[in-house]
Amino acid sequence: MVGMDPMIPTAVTMLANGMSFLKNASDLAKTSTDTDLKIAISDAYSALIDLKAKLSEIDDENRELKAKLRQKESVKRTSEFGYYFKDGDSDPLCPKCYERDGKLIHLSEQRSIRSEIWRDCEVCQYSKCERAATEPFSQAPVKRRRNNWMGN
Ligand SMILES: [Zn+2]
Repeated sequence: MVGMDPMIPTAVTMLANGMSFLKNASDLAKTSTDTDLKIAISDAYSALIDLKAKLSEIDDENRELKAKLRQKESVKRTSEFGYYFKDGDSDPLCPKCYERDGKLIHLSEQRSIRSEIWRDCEVCQYSKCERAATEPFSQAPVKRRRNNWMGN
């Protein structure tokens, strides 16, 4: 329980008090021939040891949750493309990886395909078009040809 979370000490103190009281009871019972009393004290010890293990488990979980919370506070979503950005980092994070798994995965650099700009995630294959083709096919309309081969 080294370096336990500051929120937990009261519980640790209570546990230590319980152990100390039980030690007193155990010392007093040493001269007793009452085996039921000795068994009861031994059971109480076991219960406190279980409690100590559980407390340690809760502390670990608490640490993990606090770390997640800190991460959440430092990551913000922007409306433009729905990307997430970590404080002080101008490279966008993959929204799919972050929303689904809480993972901070950077998207690729912008890459252009013809006149479009894209970014991708190498982990989940998410792909986002940041700029569509500025001059779509309207410049050169494809003329419809009659399908004469079908006979009409
Ligand atoms: Zn991703």
